[in-house]
This record gives sequence, C-alpha cells and structure tokens, in this order.
Amino acid sequence: MLNTTFIEREKSVNAQNYDPIPVVINRGEGVWLWDVEGNRYMDMLSAYSAISHGYGHPRLFKALTEQASRVAVCSRAMYHDKMSDFLETLCKLTGQDQALMMNSGAEAVETAIKAARRWGYQVKGIPANQAEIIVMEGNFHGRTMGIISFSSEDTYKKDFGPFLPGFKIVPYGDIDALKAAITPNTCAVLTEPIQGEAGVLMPPKGWLKDIETACRANNVLLVVDEIQSGLGRTGRMLASDHEDVKPDIVILGKALGGGFLPVSAIAGRREVMAVFNPGSHGSTFGGNPLAAAVGKEALDTLIDENLIEKSAELGAYFMAGLQKIKSPYITAIRGQGLWIGVDIDPAKSTARALCMKLLNEGIIARDTHKVTIRFAPPLVITKDQIYWALERIKKVLGE
Ligand SMILES: *Cc1c(COP(=O)(O)O)cnc(C)c1O
Repeated sequence: MLNTTFIEREKSVNAQNYDPIPVVINRGEGVWLWDVEGNRYMDMLSAYSAISHGYGHPRLFKALTEQASRVAVCSRAMYHDKMSDFLETLCKLTGQDQALMMNSGAEAVETAIKAARRWGYQVKGIPANQAEIIVMEGNFHGRTMGIISFSSEDTYKKDFGPFLPGFKIVPYGDIDALKAAITPNTCAVLTEPIQGEAGVLMPPKGWLKDIETACRANNVLLVVDEIQSGLGRTGRMLASDHEDVKPDIVILGKALGGGFLPVSAIAGRREVMAVFNPGSHGSTFGGNPLAAAVGKEALDTLIDENLIEKSAELGAYFMAGLQKIKSPYITAIRGQGLWIGVDIDPAKSTARALCMKLLNEGIIARDTHKVTIRFAPPLVITKDQIYWALERIKKVLGE
C-alpha cells in the first residue's frame, strides 16, 4: 500500500483542520515510526510531548491491558480503586495538595480557569462577573471556545466569535507590563513557562520567579500550563522547577497519558481546589480507572527510568551537537532539556522545506510558525540515537 493512496482517501472524508507531512503511520516502537510503505523514521516530535515515554512502552502497555481487562471506564457516580494511587503520586511529584483529572489538555486548562475565577469570587472577594485573568501574547493553551478567546493568533480565532471576556493579554517575558495589568479584579496569571507552539520561546531568566513574586504581593493565583513543558521535557519534573517557582495551579496533560491515552489534570493548593463542590464541574470520562492506572504508571516510569535526568543530560548533548553544525540556514538555537527550537533564515529556506528534507533522511520533525524547526524526541531516546539524528540533521542543515 502507498502513502498517497491513504492520503487521497482521507482528504475526501476528513475535515482539513491539519496539514500533515505526507507519511501514513501504521506502527511505532520506542523512538521509531514506520509508514505503510515500510519506511522507518525517528520521531523528533513526540506528539508535542504526548509520546515522551516513546511508542508502546512495554511497562505502560502492561498497565493499560491489565487495567482494561478489569475495568476501563465507570462513571464518576461511584469511586474506583485506581484514583487515589494516581492522585497521591501526582500531588507528591508536583508538590501540590489536591488534583482533578480530565482528558484533554484543553479541558484541564478550562478546569484551571474555572478554579481561578471561582477562587477570585469566593476567596479573594472580586465583585460578581468582574474577574480578570492575565495571559501572554503568543500563548497556546488549546482550542476550545474559552481558550481561543484569549489567543493572540488570528488563525486560531478567525470567524469563531463572539469570544469570552475577562482576559488581558500582555507581552510574553515583560514583567513590567504584567505588573501594570494587575488590578484588584485580577484572579490569576496564566502562562506557559516556555512557549512551545510559538517556537520553543524562552522568557528572560527570572521572569517566572518575578511573576510569582508579583502574584503573591497582589493576592493573585499563578497558574502554569505545563502540558507540553512538564513531566521531564525540560530536564526537570516541571519547567517551573528551574526557577523554584511553585504555582498555585499546575496544568498537566500530554505525557501524563504515557503515549496511550488522553489523560490530563490540574494539581493545586487545597484552598484553590476546595472551590469545587458537587455539580460545579465534571466530565464523563475524566478520571476513569484506565486513565488513572496508565497515568500512575506514566509518572512512576519517569522516575524509575530516570527520564527526567536523561532529558537534561541528552538535551545538553543534542544542543551541543546542533551548535557545532556550520549552517547557512540556522539563525538561532534555543531550548532546555530535550526540547529545542532551531530558527531558519527565511531568506535561505522555509522550516517546512527543511523538515521535508529531514523526512527524506528518516527524521520526523515539524516546523512551527514557518521559521522554527522544533526537535522534541521521546525522553527514552539514547545517546547513540541522538548521534544518528545529528549526522542526518547535519547533512540537511549543514554547508
Ligand atoms: C497541547 C497543549 C495544550 C492543549 O492540549 P490538548 O490535549 O491538545 O487539548 C494546552 N497547552 C499547551 C501548552 C499545550 O502544548
């Protein structure tokens, strides 16, 4: 079977909300993917951190199948025996008191917004319907109507209005603008610690810590979206850990599902999480036994296999290798852990065209915002495999 056959068929029946590279995947193992023609690729994308544990991790597969053979889904109208194991581990690893499970990342962001607003009214005492949340220019928090309401990206919003009010956008990395935007009605600041979709954009050093200080001084919650940056991607459990920042709410997703399931959650301080009462929020599938069992195994595997330390070590090795490439295309390289953005000189080529050349060399990487190639391999990658990739990246991006 040919890739093109599937692509043509899919194009006639699938709404075109993505623009995929022209490969049709039918198998994955570790860092490798195979297409329907039998070509093998190293995945340097990891589904934006959802595949941090690699494809088909045996330990996670075992947890998945064992739990599926017992009970996969029961409604939240009853308790189940996997929830406490998962939440205790999650709270311990994030240093938080309580957590709440959802499915997709966007749902977890929505959950955090509801928690922050309710805390604003019930604890801080903001007048009804006046709560404001400060967000960053260039943010990416998902695709629901609530979330795109505070996006600064036109393609995410065009013809989807009217939008949800109550958000203020400030420039990313600008602490003075953020402080100036805080009013007595501000209930929260919501940010990514590193902007992934925007191109692995790193804020100035100390910026997140300064936000934390400003939040404490003004009785404002700090809500950090670690859906892509968290769970070892940057070489620490959370990217917030690099600056010893302790958010009031941490949002997790992607890698939390171990590459098998959509599993997301928010974890937060007891005072904030206590605003939820029966009926205030929920999801039929959120917190099901299968998700809890896989989520718990995903967290334990990160620790047992030292994937966080590996991300720091191998990320530094990968970064050093990229920096050594003499390239007519590269204008900047930045990143943390196994999460690296490489900017391409638009006068020389597009990131997309170079990603197509990488594909021909057996490497899957994607462009973001036309000028950046994002490299974010599974955290289970080995040094030899990174060396293998560097040789091929050098061939494409080098002189
Ligand atoms: C992917 C992502 C989301 C949305 O997660 P979905 O599972 O796609 O809904 C939110 N925030 C960040 C930072 C992300 O990278």
